[in-house]
Amino acid sequence: MLSRIEVFQGDITTLHVDVLVNAANPSLMGGGGVDGAIHRAAGPALLEACKLVRQQQGECAPGQAVITLAGDLPAKAVIHTVGPVWQGGDHHEARILEDAYRNCLNLAAANGYKTLAFPAISTGVYGFPRVAAAEIAVNTVSDYLTRKSLPERVYFVCYDEENTRLYQRLLTQRG
Ligand code: ADP
Repeated sequence: MLSRIEVFQGDITTLHVDVLVNAANPSLMGGGGVDGAIHRAAGPALLEACKLVRQQQGECAPGQAVITLAGDLPAKAVIHTVGPVWQGGDHHEARILEDAYRNCLNLAAANGYKTLAFPAISTGVYGFPRVAAAEIAVNTVSDYLTRKSLPERVYFVCYDEENTRLYQRLLTQRG
């Protein structure tokens, strides 16, 4: 399974994958961090698509995911998921983060997408401890791929070297 997982260091908006995941906030109206970068690179069509989803479905709850077009991005679609805000660890943060990863995988597979890229959800402004978040990401994705054939390939996109090394270490340990 691990041959279907890769670590990429850099800006997620540059990736030529079928679908990339946005660490959104419940409003879906854009924000800072990776969310801001995705909206800037995708252009106004993405915000329009998000507004439509918001009108139809309301806010996106933590752990849930929705899919939109990708505007000017090289990707074909964007899956917006809302990670948990870290509140010390006893507010179901781990389960919600796991749900976020799993719901993104399910949505990508349901749409027939073969390649999917994740940022490190919740590890920026939302404050989830990085090692625990990476363990959840690696375990949830690895377990999913052992059971399902889609997506065929998953990229963990790390913005900095420290996170890249962390993901590589965890994947080697599982390997
Ligand atoms: P959250 O609100 O879920 O914590 P953030 O966007 O604040 O989301 O941070 C999530 C992670 O995304 C952080 O590890 C941050 O370093 C990383 N990140 C920020 N910009 C980018 C980008 N352009 N591409 C990939 N990862 C990014």
